Amino acid sequence: MGLLSLGTPMHWSEAKKHADHVREHGIIQFLNLWQVAKDSQKDCLLWGDEVEYMVIAYDEEKKNAKLSLRVFEMLSELSKEEEEANKHPEKNLEVKTAWRPEYGRYMLEGTPGTPYMGLPRDLLAVEQNMKLRRALAQRWMKPHEIPVTLTSFPRLGCEGEFLEPHHIPDGAACRSLFVPDQIINAHVRFPTLTANIRRRRGSKVAINTPIFHDKNTPKPFIDPTIPRRNLFPEDRNAIEDGAALPDHIYMDAMAFGMGCSCLQITFQAVNVDEARKIYDQMAPLGPIMLALTAAAPIYRGYLSDVDCRWNVIAQSVDDRTEEERGLKPLKDSKFRINKSRYDSIDSYISNDPSNKPEYNDIPLVYDKDVYKKLSDNGIDDLLARHIAHLFIRDPLVIFEELLNVDDNESTDHFENLQSTNWQTMRFKPPPSKTSPIGWRVEFRSMEIQLTDFENAAFAIFIVLVTRAVLSFNTNFYIPISKVDENMKVAQHRNAVLGEKFHFRKSIFPQSRPGTPASGTPSGSPKLSNASLPRATHHGTNLSAGLDRSDEYELMTINEIINGKPSTGYPGLLGLVNNYLNTLNIDIETRCEISKYLELIKKRANGTLMTAASWMRQFVQNHPDYKQDSVVSERINYDLVKMVEKINNGEVIVPELLGSFSV
Ligand code: ADP
Ligand code: MG
Ligand code: MG
Ligand code: MG
Ligand code: MG
Repeated sequence: MGLLSLGTPMHWSEAKKHADHVREHGIIQFLNLWQVAKDSQKDCLLWGDEVEYMVIAYDEEKKNAKLSLRVFEMLSELSKEEEEANKHPEKNLEVKTAWRPEYGRYMLEGTPGTPYMGLPRDLLAVEQNMKLRRALAQRWMKPHEIPVTLTSFPRLGCEGEFLEPHHIPDGAACRSLFVPDQIINAHVRFPTLTANIRRRRGSKVAINTPIFHDKNTPKPFIDPTIPRRNLFPEDRNAIEDGAALPDHIYMDAMAFGMGCSCLQITFQAVNVDEARKIYDQMAPLGPIMLALTAAAPIYRGYLSDVDCRWNVIAQSVDDRTEEERGLKPLKDSKFRINKSRYDSIDSYISNDPSNKPEYNDIPLVYDKDVYKKLSDNGIDDLLARHIAHLFIRDPLVIFEELLNVDDNESTDHFENLQSTNWQTMRFKPPPSKTSPIGWRVEFRSMEIQLTDFENAAFAIFIVLVTRAVLSFNTNFYIPISKVDENMKVAQHRNAVLGEKFHFRKSIFPQSRPGTPASGTPSGSPKLSNASLPRATHHGTNLSAGLDRSDEYELMTINEIINGKPSTGYPGLLGLVNNYLNTLNIDIETRCEISKYLELIKKRANGTLMTAASWMRQFVQNHPDYKQDSVVSERINYDLVKMVEKINNGEVIVPELLGSFSV
């Protein structure tokens, strides 16, 4: 279905023999594509969101909310509109929604059927389309099933029943103590990916998320629900060999991470340089938006001390060998690698002069042969490094039938590595030489929100930020190591109000004597200087020789979003509003857009709660809760019911949504 090619997948012991082949041809494919695509020019903004849903199945008798494993039946119905349109291009059928399978057999991914165009009226279609998607998904569900947009399912992997139908955890793909293989999408790609990550790593993945210590939570917390079993050799590892850390919620399967849902936004740039610029400018916003969208405080039935999914997913697909992780000296592996293949980006890639070399201050691990091949063929240093960095990974799923393809036509091998580097940002080349699609950038850090209104708000906010970035030629660069520090902090409980983040003080291009300020890129509206907020810089001057730490400081999310009057920093919302001021927008549209921006403002300044804080509060106020961090079946059931009622408009939660109704 969709982009998932069919064939015979190789066991890791076989696949690893072909890893060099896939990499070699992946680079040839990229270079072939580059020859044609490097000059690609697009004149209009196209963009789209991806919303991931979980399908809930209620057991009303037992008051349990489970995950329904029936998604494939739903997908085949939901995809008909798109399939019909593809079958009859001559009919020019309108496709309103598009659907893709996801990692979990209980997950659906929905996008607008065609990307959104220009601004700003089209922004008002976003929430409508999300509502349509939710309604369409519901149409193919049974009466006891509903789609929800929860980032992590609170009771995934718990004792008792959390799947419909129920299965005992004993599958060969993940070998998990907690989840059966039936939780994985049935398409062979997914169980193979799961098993090959485990095989390549040399052990099961080990996810340890700090537990939230409530009044009655034992200290140290040693999880009594970790089963004793003797099915697989590593079963005893969990407790005896220390895979499960004390004071942590232990999870041992890819499904705990890749079974989380998120909100992703992809935008097309006018050309490759603009894509590289957007990629860099948005990268420092990754952790900020992660903290602001925090929506994942519960794992495997326990309240955790983090609010976000990010590290859980990173650990859930960490296929690095012990040597790569630095636990043993390098012998069979090629590189020491600092991160999982799911993590924040390691380098900026724009050739804009504002991208100073010192901002790329993480020693980049990259494949020297790949780098050489790329630079010998005319790819510049930063882009060659970026791709050679992605290519330090091995391809995890190789289909026998697709090993030898025409490198002039196919980009399969390139995409194999590209699409299994799951990072905060993704730089997407056109899919093929002949595709009408241009260079795109994907913003990937945000957590999915409980309602369409919120998801539309964050999608709209992000696309407006990209427009403002281009119009004002902003500069958000801080050393990339600081972005990484922000990523860690962003996941802390209540980071949105309690933490500070490294952020650039002066985000507008500084014109130094003799150097003209860089102009606005073509295609974006001309701005009158009067509408530009004055960015003062405390008398410092950004010219050479200054300590770069002068360029950034620690700010709260409120300051980053809503501005810091004392320094003239306008905030991302200030930037967006200034951008909107430069457009000719009718009052009605502007008011509609303002509703969404209000939500962002109030989440950032603490007037409204994040989904994570709201869920914590719901659990802690539940009569069943015993101040012991345990989120019982009944609490989970009531939580899911409440989320359903919020979406139906049956219940109003001003602490989460303010005066905005769903
Ligand atoms: P992936 O899963 O690889 O990130 P998807 O195809 O699921 O990508 O979703 C990509 C998103 O990009 C969708 O919202 C889609 O509407 C949008 N999109 C499609 N074509 C373009 C384009 N040419 N430019 C920008 N966005 C696009
Ligand atoms: Mg997708
Ligand atoms: Mg995807
Ligand atoms: Mg997805
Ligand atoms: Mg995506």
